[in-house]
Amino acid sequence: QGVARYAVAGNPVAHSQSPWIHGAFALQTGQSLNYERLLCPLDDFRRTVQRFASEGGRGCNVTVPFKFEAYALAARLSERAELAQAVNTLRFDPAEAGGWYGDNTDGAGLVRDIQNNAGRQFAGARILLLGAGGASAGVLGSLIAQGPAAITLANRSADKAQALVEQHRNWAGQHGVPVQACGLADCGSGYDILINATSASLAGAGVPVASTVLAPGALALDMMYGPAAAPFLDWARTHGAEARDGLGMLVEQAAEAFELWRGVKPDTAEVLATLRAKLAAKS
Ligand code: NDP
Repeated sequence: QGVARYAVAGNPVAHSQSPWIHGAFALQTGQSLNYERLLCPLDDFRRTVQRFASEGGRGCNVTVPFKFEAYALAARLSERAELAQAVNTLRFDPAEAGGWYGDNTDGAGLVRDIQNNAGRQFAGARILLLGAGGASAGVLGSLIAQGPAAITLANRSADKAQALVEQHRNWAGQHGVPVQACGLADCGSGYDILINATSASLAGAGVPVASTVLAPGALALDMMYGPAAAPFLDWARTHGAEARDGLGMLVEQAAEAFELWRGVKPDTAEVLATLRAKLAAKS
């Protein structure tokens, strides 16, 4: 049998903090496991993770650009992964037909970071979510389930935002939350919570919306972390918002994945604080 193996599967994966985070969780909870980086060729995600499973792999965190391929691979899905049509966590169950169970922990991670770590309430909040890629797909359902006052989904290609809103139409109806789609130039103003789930900063394109989107005292969160998040965080602070990077979400979504794999929930506060200090010391 040997020690259970887990990995972050993506392209690129060299700078992923997931091996460190899961190593810290394993140490804290006394679990014995190996966690590695699985660089998947862009045209060979499926075969790479299948090979990993045949060599003892029991689960993967899935990152850019494979969340939709992981969704297609999974034989069984959690309700939230089905809603998102994107998977960020795979568990390999050797005894089951098809083997792979797909989940999406990004939304739960984001919600927990905003509520527990940033101390913000969703009740009564107007939320602006930027982006309509894998990250937005992963979190929209969880944001709706918190019952905010309203959610606007804005994307550079407005048709993609519209499609993602349509995908969540019934879910939003069940929760009584108005959700609308728009382009980046016409997304309104005065939001209590702004979430940047675009990769605009990576592309060096800066902040893709006007500062009027921020209500006084708003929370502005970029899902990115490290130097790439700096332009957004500086912009948010300059315009009076509370700025937050994506490190808390990263640790929280990882904790949720760890629980799915190992059946134990790690304590995230200590791991997040140590990771922040580690990255600050490096920069
Ligand atoms: P995708 O490639 O699937 O989507 C990228 C999105 O960014 C699209 O909506 C795209 O718009 C938009 N975009 C790209 N360039 C620009 C630009 N110059 N101006 C405006 N919009 C732009 O990526 P993901 O959704 O998977 O990831 C997005 C980010 O979130 C990544 O940086 C990722 O690292 C981060 N992330 C962080 C997590 C965490 O735990 N902290 C978890 C998941 C993701 P269009 O559709 O028009 O092309």
